Amino acid sequence: MINLSNFSSIFIANWKLNANNDFINDYYQKLLPRSNSCVVICSPSIYLNKLKINSNNLFSGAQDVSFFNEGAYTGELSSRMLLDNNISFCIVGHSERRQYFNESNKTINQKATNLINNKIIPIICIGETLKQREQNITFEILLNQIQESIPEISNKNNCIIAYEPIWAIGTGITPTLDQIEEVHTFIKNSKIINGDLKILYGGSVKPSNSANINRLKSVDGCLVGGASLNVEEFNTIIS
Ligand code: PEP
Repeated sequence: MINLSNFSSIFIANWKLNANNDFINDYYQKLLPRSNSCVVICSPSIYLNKLKINSNNLFSGAQDVSFFNEGAYTGELSSRMLLDNNISFCIVGHSERRQYFNESNKTINQKATNLINNKIIPIICIGETLKQREQNITFEILLNQIQESIPEISNKNNCIIAYEPIWAIGTGITPTLDQIEEVHTFIKNSKIINGDLKILYGGSVKPSNSANINRLKSVDGCLVGGASLNVEEFNTIIS
């Protein structure tokens, strides 16, 4: 398993349902990871073996994994298969999967457990909707997601949390820096997590706001969707 304590920041590129062979070749010719940052590219599954990795700071990640370990589950990919293909990270519980594929906290917990047992670091996404924020129940929602989706076996070496307010994903709207700091501090202080898990921020991170977000004391890096598809923009974010 990757030693997360080696890195001052962690940056995850979530390409979602985008990319092709030419895009990937061009991307790696231009990508400039910094030595003290961990950079993880999460591609659609079919391209995972095309992603470049090195043992220092560049890794590959999946965007999802099966709840099951093996058996008659057509179309699924297991944690063991990811391990077998040198995949070091996997996003789980992304809000798009919760919304479009009905993923529950329980399913996410099981997926994350399977990943940890196979030495792959889950990046577990949590976040509130705009309505929940307006109703002042953000902390309640996050606490419930943490309680139910973060496995008991998780610790600061084998698991990462990504705080992604749903209203900020793909919208160009970001919370204020104070709002991000407030939520990250709340998560870090929540007694139900074993130790000091790294917490990434995700939601409309772009070159113009990434430096300020990353400077926050409670932010350990970023999960980047849209802007990670433009390698020049992603280079600026990870620099
Ligand atoms: C995401 O996909 O998790 C994400 C944060 O997307 P975007 O950066 O486009 O908001």
